[in-house]
Formats: sequence, C-alpha cells, structure tokens
Amino acid sequence: MPGSSESGMRFAITVCAPVTIRGKYFMVMSKAEWRRRRRKKKMIRKYVTLGLLACIFVLVLVLLVKVVTAIFAHMDGGIIEKAGDVKITQSLLSVSRYARCGEKLEAVDEIIIHSNNTVGKTAQEQRDYYESLKTKKNDNERQSMHFIIDLDGKIYQCIPTNEIALAVAGNIKFRSLSIEYCITGADGSMSAATYTSLCKLVATLCQEYKLNEKKVFRHFDKNQVPCPMFFVNEANWEQFKTDVKAARNGKKVSVTNAPINNIVAPHTGDTQEGGEGESGEGSGTGAGTADGQPEGS
Ligand SMILES: [Zn+2]
Repeated sequence: MPGSSESGMRFAITVCAPVTIRGKYFMVMSKAEWRRRRRKKKMIRKYVTLGLLACIFVLVLVLLVKVVTAIFAHMDGGIIEKAGDVKITQSLLSVSRYARCGEKLEAVDEIIIHSNNTVGKTAQEQRDYYESLKTKKNDNERQSMHFIIDLDGKIYQCIPTNEIALAVAGNIKFRSLSIEYCITGADGSMSAATYTSLCKLVATLCQEYKLNEKKVFRHFDKNQVPCPMFFVNEANWEQFKTDVKAARNGKKVSVTNAPINNIVAPHTGDTQEGGEGESGEGSGTGAGTADGQPEGS
C-alpha cells in the first residue's frame, strides 16, 4: 500500500517497504532481506546444478552399463537370443570331452557352415546324436556345433559362443563359430525356411562379432571335405554370401535365386555307424584324424 517515505523507512529496517519518491511508487528492500534473497537464489542455483549433474551422471551410468553389457554380451554366457527376427532356442549340450568340451573360445574371427548328411534328419535328432557321444566315449568321434538349423528354419544353440565346438579340425586355431543345417535333398539342399534362417543367423553373428562375408567359410574351405555339399557348388555359395550381405544390411533374403529344395523328404531313420555326423565327417578325414579334434590331430 503506498505510503509516506517515513513509514517506508520504518518497514525497510525489517523486510521491504513501499516508498514514494517524487510521486513514484517503489518497494525498498532491506540489506538483510537482499542478502537473504541472494542466498536463497544461490541455494536454488546450487540445487538445480546438483540435480542436473545427478541426472547427467545417472544417464551416463545407464549408457555405460548398456555399452558394457552389449560389448560383453557374447562373453557372458555366450547365448545368442535372436537372429534377425528369428528366435533362437537354447538346447545346450552337457559338458563332456566328446561334444561340448567346455574349452574357452577366446575370440570369434570366422563363421563356418556345415550341413548334416541325412535327408530329413531333424535338428533335435542331430543334437541328440552329439549329446550321445559322451556315453560312447570314442576319442575318434568327438563332434559338436554351436548352432543347428532345423528343416523348418528353427535355430537351436547347442554350445555358447564363448566355448569351442568340435566341428572343424584345428578349430582353436580358426577361432570360429560353426553352424550346421538340416538337409531336405540328397544334393545337400535345404528348405527355404532353413536357408532364410541360415542367412539371418550368419548375418546376426557377423554383426555381433564385427565380421563380414569374407570371414564366412564352408567346412570344405578348411578341411577339403564335401561339406556342406550344396555349397560346394560355387554359384550356390556366392549367392548365399550375397544373401547374407543383404540380411546384414536389413534387406529381405532372396530365396528365389538359389536352387532350394522345399520338399522335406521323410527321415529314413537309419543309424548306421559313422553316418550320424554332418556330411564329410568320418569319411573324408579317416578315423585317425576325425574332424572335431581340437588341435587337428
Ligand atoms: Zn562339416
């Protein structure tokens, strides 16, 4: 309320007081009040700064945790959850020197493709075969794969990606991940679903381990065994690598250019000795140097 300068001075001693100077109305603040308000402002500024810093700290911490988790995801259990939009089913083998030997894979430099050798044989049957090796206890029959892709395109993981698979002789040296697919044709061809999943899985692993198609090999390239038979044909292999590149770049995998066998033949159920493993195993290398010996004996 406007008042005289006298009454204003009286109020000014304590907090603020209205004063009128040359007909104009002012609020005059005491020095103590001015200091109090300055302190308050400083305090608010301090708390706001601290709050912002705390927010930034939490944000950085969350980002750091995410980055570290992403970097060490494959080292922490070595489990791959998805390949593109395809879910991966965990079906880990038990640890034994005959299949999942449990030795650490220090790094992943290469991806190696295999196929099994019985038309219509399922991923589950192939996985069970690897699991059965621990009871056979035959040092010339040590085999396993990181992943098996079924006749219908479902992907199973049998060994964590931070452990070695006994798939290629000398694979410790190769530092590789091995993928085996189930076949639908005697020429080693597969269903369109299997082919698509294979492309997506290889593309996903390439992204995970910062690789490209130049680091994707056939078993044939390593041990000169006809595995996978379908991809020993250079045109099929080149088309596959083109499709992996497309999948890696988020494009749709084309299954029209490769001669894919879509008809799933019934599994004959044969269980002849030495014929259980994927193609090329036991036949091209001889019993004494069976594939799967980690040091390529
Ligand atoms: Zn092979």
